[in-house]
Amino acid sequence: MEIAYIGLGGNVASAAGTPEVTLARAAERLSALGRVVRRSRLYSTAPVGFAEQPRFVNAVVALETELTASALLDALLGIEREFGRDRSHAIPNGPRTLDLDILLYGMARIESAALQVPHPRLAERAFVLVPLHEIAPEVIVPGVGRSVAELLACLKIAAEDAVMPLESGVWRNDGHVQS
Ligand code: ADP
Ligand code: MG
Repeated sequence: MEIAYIGLGGNVASAAGTPEVTLARAAERLSALGRVVRRSRLYSTAPVGFAEQPRFVNAVVALETELTASALLDALLGIEREFGRDRSHAIPNGPRTLDLDILLYGMARIESAALQVPHPRLAERAFVLVPLHEIAPEVIVPGVGRSVAELLACLKIAAEDAVMPLESGVWRNDGHVQS
């Protein structure tokens, strides 16, 4: 059993609905891969890299799972496709219905072509660190040797509205999802 921290994000509607609904449904699908033990609130975040697109909705969940990291990645990519993720003409950091990233997988360090864990851009992304900090402030990021709280304290957040908690009727951070 490992605890994997999974980052969820999206900024365009899927067939399921708005990004909030997509993330809520995707979190339900994650329950099939293990046990969702913690979930952050939803956050509204400013796009990074490619500015001319809607704000993102982001969250982080902790998943207790027996899947290997590579089996987990395959399952996440499958869920992205289920929610209409289209990589055929993707702009890096551009609009997407659903992005699921493995941020941490226990204390594992993985450096293969298909999978890097901890996620290489974790420490520089407020939209990841803020929700991750909400559920796992003390967790040490392997390789960096610092806690999530320490990394967040080092990060300069560009603008006041870069990462804002989002009230949403479809997402509960107590483990329940309403329809
Ligand atoms: P990004 O999430 O950086 O915007 P994509 O979602 O398009 O980019 O991911 C592209 C590829 O990144 C995936 O096909 C996957 O093989 C690879 N990848 C490497 N490490 C990870 C990770 N930790 N979590 C998710 N995908 C990863
Ligand atoms: Mg991704």
